[in-house]
Amino acid sequence: MTAVGPTTEKPTATSLALVGGSVWDGRAGASAPGSVLVKDGLIAEGGAMGAVAEGASSSPQVVDVTSCTIVPGLIEGHAHLAFNAGLDWREVFDGDSQQGMLLRMAGAAQRMLAAGITTVRDLGAPTPLATGLRDAIAGGQLAGPDLLVAGAPITTTAGHCYFIGGEADGELGVRVAVRERVKAGVDWIKVMASGGNMTPGSNVYAAQYTVAEISAVVEEAHRLGRRVAAHCHGVEGIKVAVAASVDTLEHCSFQSPEGADKDDEVIAEIAARGIAVSPTIPVSMERQRGTERWERRAALTSALFEAGCDVLMSTDCGIPRVPHESLAGGMRVLADLTGLSPVETLKLATSTPARLLALDDRGVIEPGKRADLLVVDGDPTEDLTALERVRHVVSDGVLAGS
Ligand SMILES: [Zn+2]
Repeated sequence: MTAVGPTTEKPTATSLALVGGSVWDGRAGASAPGSVLVKDGLIAEGGAMGAVAEGASSSPQVVDVTSCTIVPGLIEGHAHLAFNAGLDWREVFDGDSQQGMLLRMAGAAQRMLAAGITTVRDLGAPTPLATGLRDAIAGGQLAGPDLLVAGAPITTTAGHCYFIGGEADGELGVRVAVRERVKAGVDWIKVMASGGNMTPGSNVYAAQYTVAEISAVVEEAHRLGRRVAAHCHGVEGIKVAVAASVDTLEHCSFQSPEGADKDDEVIAEIAARGIAVSPTIPVSMERQRGTERWERRAALTSALFEAGCDVLMSTDCGIPRVPHESLAGGMRVLADLTGLSPVETLKLATSTPARLLALDDRGVIEPGKRADLLVVDGDPTEDLTALERVRHVVSDGVLAGS
């Protein structure tokens, strides 16, 4: 987004061929034997062996991926690079210098890339750190996934995640907050429509803002070409965010003291308005398997799909017990919660978020798309655990580690 100096030109491989394995293109019902050819950061060919062989013969870099499957690089819909995924997250966050935090964020981003996550939507970090890291990666100064950043979430005074630095109140206050973030170069606007579990003193079950306030956020963001992600747990916060027609509902957990308490009328409204749901399914939820909380979350998550809601994969990584690189684990949990097939689950982290987050240049393997690729041992269209056996990652046409 921001221009970079003449000495920081991205070192792209001019040509790369991944041959001898299988390909799942992000949309098909199964993988098929095939290869992928990359040129100038873009996918030049992807598919049947014969079509690619000719280009591969002239490639300077040919990688044999026998017994592996090539899939589109994964997209994490909701991350916090600035949190350390530990139980001591708040101490670490509050105690870090800006330099220390930025380096931690860069480390987390690199672990995500190594896990095959090539696009990350960061929905809450100090604004200059998030935009600075995004630009450094985009400029080729360090390796990492492509970042879409919201900077500091807009929240009420003392509201959820106020400590990140985004307090704003009233319709004028939130409009100014949107303008400040756009001036700072964010890609998304994040607003906290309800309290959150990580902020003592905030109320998870109540709305933080009025419909008029969230509507002001949405109007101002859309005027300036940005989309709005709204954090909402309790049904009151969800209702306000839906009434204001935000673009994505984060968590949307219908949290009540007993666990998820889904409201079918509200879910129908979400589907009718075409608002995407980013349900933040963390790998840590595995620990709840067999409990009533698990059953309630399973009923809610299934209901979202049954109602026809647009759902994308997200984990809220960075919060306690959710390592940044654990997207594949979250996908396994989502498949178990809903009974979705591996292929349908894979779409939620590839072609579906590309569509829902307006990233038309990625998420599928086809000529002309950004060459973000993940090569895993085995076939994740049959067994999602294959995603955790990463062999190669290609980001923006560059083979990681090469
Ligand atoms: Zn979050």
